[in-house]
Amino acid sequence: MKFINLTRRTEIGANSYYIEAGGHRLVLDCGMHPKFEGEDALPNFKPIADRQLDAILISHSHQDHIGTLPVLMRRQPNARVFMTEATAEIGNTLLHNSVNVMTRQREGLVTTLYPLFTHRETDRAADQWQSCPLQQAYTVSGERTHSRDTDALTFEFFDAGHVLGSAGILLRVEGRRFFYSGDVNFDDQTIAQSAIFPEKDIDILIIECTRGDTPAPPGWTRTGEEHRLAAAIERAFARGGCVLIPVFALGKTQEILAMLSKFRREKLLDFPIYIGGLSSKISEIYDRRAHLGRRQLPRLQLLNEVRPFVLNAETIHDAPVRSGRIYALSSGMMMPKTLSNLFAQRIVENPRHSVFFVGYADPESAAGILKNALPGEQVTIDPDAAAQRVRCHIEQFQFSAHASREAIVAYVNRLAPKKILLVHGDPLAVEWTRARLSLDLPESKVIVPPPGVELEL
Ligand SMILES: [Zn+2]
Ligand SMILES: [Zn+2]
Repeated sequence: MKFINLTRRTEIGANSYYIEAGGHRLVLDCGMHPKFEGEDALPNFKPIADRQLDAILISHSHQDHIGTLPVLMRRQPNARVFMTEATAEIGNTLLHNSVNVMTRQREGLVTTLYPLFTHRETDRAADQWQSCPLQQAYTVSGERTHSRDTDALTFEFFDAGHVLGSAGILLRVEGRRFFYSGDVNFDDQTIAQSAIFPEKDIDILIIECTRGDTPAPPGWTRTGEEHRLAAAIERAFARGGCVLIPVFALGKTQEILAMLSKFRREKLLDFPIYIGGLSSKISEIYDRRAHLGRRQLPRLQLLNEVRPFVLNAETIHDAPVRSGRIYALSSGMMMPKTLSNLFAQRIVENPRHSVFFVGYADPESAAGILKNALPGEQVTIDPDAAAQRVRCHIEQFQFSAHASREAIVAYVNRLAPKKILLVHGDPLAVEWTRARLSLDLPESKVIVPPPGVELEL
């Protein structure tokens, strides 16, 4: 089996992995880098330029996993594309939104490449996707199969418990079993239920390390953290301000809306909430699919019950900053020109207002910079705007949609695969996981796949 890491660095960037086995060529995921523009935002497709793919499998519809799929489909017109039904539905919405964002970005950029793909191309691409239910094996030509009936390569999706539609991917080929975690959570969230992954007989495992550089907070429970958030919101409102929570449009927004509905039901706290236009569209998909899969609170209809106000790129500039309100706006990393970034610039210098961080942020992103800023420090939230002095109140909460490093290590120890490939982590996170697993599993080979290098597994 051949394997190439198609990311450009050891990082959480544009995820994409090439696999060749049993006479088949596949790519797992095809992300867009959140920090870079043009060609640099794409995975590195050079090592596979001369190879014809049979299939592209997508784990879930976060930008860093699906964001450049139309580009790879253009370069690989014969490849079939597979994902879960919810991932297809969300992915379609998200890629169209991405065309709009890239078109806006083009104005400030030197590149003529933007947008990297168009609305029409996205529609044509989405028409070709085949959606697959969980725990059903398929051949790469898209036929259902019972794995024991065939020697050919088959794949199967497993619930990853990360966001709606997210899946790990099992490949069976030539008597070996290869499993790709995608992004995974082994704990229940407010909406998402914990992953159901294979628990034995995996020969090669490729697993994410997002939280590898931080230990799980001692005594942490989801319910405890929800209550800590409710109390902090109450204090923030008592200071006479509002609270900005930068969130991903997919996943974290819906988790926050579900928490608010719980606060209301438990008569803990009630307040108006603002979300962005894309978040609202994705929440609609959560509501439509509430009964269709495993999740908590299957009867909760987010938009009907919570009734969030919706802001967009036009209204964000003039929307009043009202005290006693939550602004749960994307992007989660506060990338320049997104709603959360524009709103942060309006409140960061005011000590009455608060910014609460609830998940992962790249340390170099605006969210990462603000999260680590000291009171009174000068920060640049948008490179095109003036630096600002941090006077607002900043707090952090742990509502990550990713498994803790302890849960990752426990899972890998249970499986004890012969080979373990570590991906989707900053260098420190990957290194901690590598060192720990090498100690725990001396019989296994722990590999950090170097970008662009072909490995024989
Ligand atoms: Zn993700
Ligand atoms: Zn990811």
